[in-house]
Amino acid sequence: MQFRDLHRQYEALRPAIDSAMLQVASSGAYIMGPQVAALEQQLADYVGVKHCVSCANGTDALSLALMAWGVGEGDAVFVPDFTFFASAEVIAHAGATPIFVDVEMDTYNISLSDLEAKYAALPSHLTPRAVVAVDLFGLPADFMALRQFANQHGLLILEDAAQGFGGSIGNRRACSFGDIATTSFFPAKPLGCYGDGGAVFTDNDEWAALLRSFRVHGKGSDKYDNVRIGLNSRLDTLQAAILQVKLKAFEDYELDAVNRVANLYNERLEGKVITPAIPQGFGSSWAQYTIQLPQRDTVKQTLQAEGIPSMVYYPKPMSAQTAFASVAGIQGPCPNAARLSATVLSLPMHPYMTDAEVAHVSETLLASI
Ligand SMILES: *Cc1c(COP(=O)(O)O)cnc(C)c1O
Repeated sequence: MQFRDLHRQYEALRPAIDSAMLQVASSGAYIMGPQVAALEQQLADYVGVKHCVSCANGTDALSLALMAWGVGEGDAVFVPDFTFFASAEVIAHAGATPIFVDVEMDTYNISLSDLEAKYAALPSHLTPRAVVAVDLFGLPADFMALRQFANQHGLLILEDAAQGFGGSIGNRRACSFGDIATTSFFPAKPLGCYGDGGAVFTDNDEWAALLRSFRVHGKGSDKYDNVRIGLNSRLDTLQAAILQVKLKAFEDYELDAVNRVANLYNERLEGKVITPAIPQGFGSSWAQYTIQLPQRDTVKQTLQAEGIPSMVYYPKPMSAQTAFASVAGIQGPCPNAARLSATVLSLPMHPYMTDAEVAHVSETLLASI
């Protein structure tokens, strides 16, 4: 069994993907071919924002957002302690200081009450600029509460929807909640390509123009007129063509399919282990189906022995990462992140899982606790 079976997806979409790839190969327009702009329009329409700027990966997408806002030395950016490293890495890379905020035990997303506490305790030499709100495991953060807090304190919200693409709150979709939002097309994400890729979303015209400039070496009127220091961070035409096929499948049935798989897991596991909490009105794109159980490590081994892969996302909070040792002195405690890193386990999850596979994973798991 595969943790996320990308081969099955390819088999299902093969004729359309093969023809899209061959069309790019024969066109010769490998960089910024017409598929790139077409995909950006389709993504913007799906998400419900004015601008989508594609780029080379989800990490660059976050960096481009911070560059557009001019975040740098002396600035503080709040970020969950429990996330993938890139969410916090980009802050330090920009020269700013990441301030780690604890997460909620049930949703795994940033805690507003701890954000308030960390904001109040911010060292006076730092200027609070932004909050990186991660849509962890596919579930949007609590953006109603965050928006109120951010507006009150003049903070910008950067929605890291690398895992959140396809999630929703009411009738609004993930990637539309932040002042700027980003996603990743790494193959295993909810919408993945066949390599690296990413995108940035915003309704703001001025930021969109800056993002387009920073993406290509800070270009001005053309790429040999450079008006700012930028990146080389374009999405390949080939990846855009693949994503056009995959976005259609995502919209047509894949998002429904992962929700069906999640419901099947819930039916079998609820009340026996801690299952994912999806608040009323929220929708998840199920980047991961993550449970909590005290005997995590032994269960993981038992599953492995039965040929069932599982993953620990994430074994170490940001505040415990060696790379952040230099900012450790100004961080407050994040006890939930520490507890979760010792108890979480992500189970196989993808749109092509069969009922029998979900049953097999669930039964093997329950027999081992
Ligand atoms: C995957 C991921 C990223 C980085 O995306 P890449 O495309 O791998 O650079 C950033 N944030 C989160 C939460 C992620 O899961």
